[in-house]
Amino acid sequence: MDMEERFQELLQDTIDYVKTGFRSHSSHKAEKGEQEEAYAPEEESRGYNSGIDERIRSCRACRLHEKRRNAVPGTGNTDADIVFIGEGPGEQEDIQGLPFVGKAGQLLTKMLAAIELGREEVYITNVVKCRPPGNRAPLPDEVEACFPYLEQQIRMIRPRIVVCLGGPAVKTILKSNTGITKLRGQIHRFNEVPVIATYHPAAVLRFPERYKRDVWNDLKLLRELYRDMRPPSS
Ligand code: SF4
Repeated sequence: MDMEERFQELLQDTIDYVKTGFRSHSSHKAEKGEQEEAYAPEEESRGYNSGIDERIRSCRACRLHEKRRNAVPGTGNTDADIVFIGEGPGEQEDIQGLPFVGKAGQLLTKMLAAIELGREEVYITNVVKCRPPGNRAPLPDEVEACFPYLEQQIRMIRPRIVVCLGGPAVKTILKSNTGITKLRGQIHRFNEVPVIATYHPAAVLRFPERYKRDVWNDLKLLRELYRDMRPPSS
């Protein structure tokens, strides 16, 4: 089975699971692995000062602190080559204090697996760190208030690639009003770091036929870019 077929199978598997509660293709071993990855504790490294996580958890810089259960700084490898950025925490993320742990998070884990990346290898965060009520889009002043945290996280992690998941993330990073449809499929720059954008996994779950082909092409772009950056294995 080639990589694209594998990705399509993983995507269909997740959609089946979200709709019915049953996986159509995965083994129990894969299911167990996914659970372990989804709840992996944050790793610390010399470059990342965890003080920022504490500042985020006690932050009251915008109205989103009022209804949050937990702020969600981010999770994963704080020395990662690749940082993934979504829009903001949803209900499950707010409850658990971790990003991408709901259904969209399960799909993100499978998207990473499709290009042979483990969730524990990358760092995952959001544009805003507190859940907007009712999962509404974050307002411009909320994004502005929270952006210094994201900027500082990227500065400390020093990734080689930033991947924006969805329009709000890429618009925030690139300070652009252009839609995701036009921004995806290309390599942009944020403070000299290459930036790739693709559709948010939640959008892919909602409209798989509309988005899965483009998402697969974006994942291939990411894989090729990352492969070109790494020295060949001996
Ligand atoms: Fe602070 Fe960001 Fe939460 Fe607003 S969303 S309260 S700026 S951490």
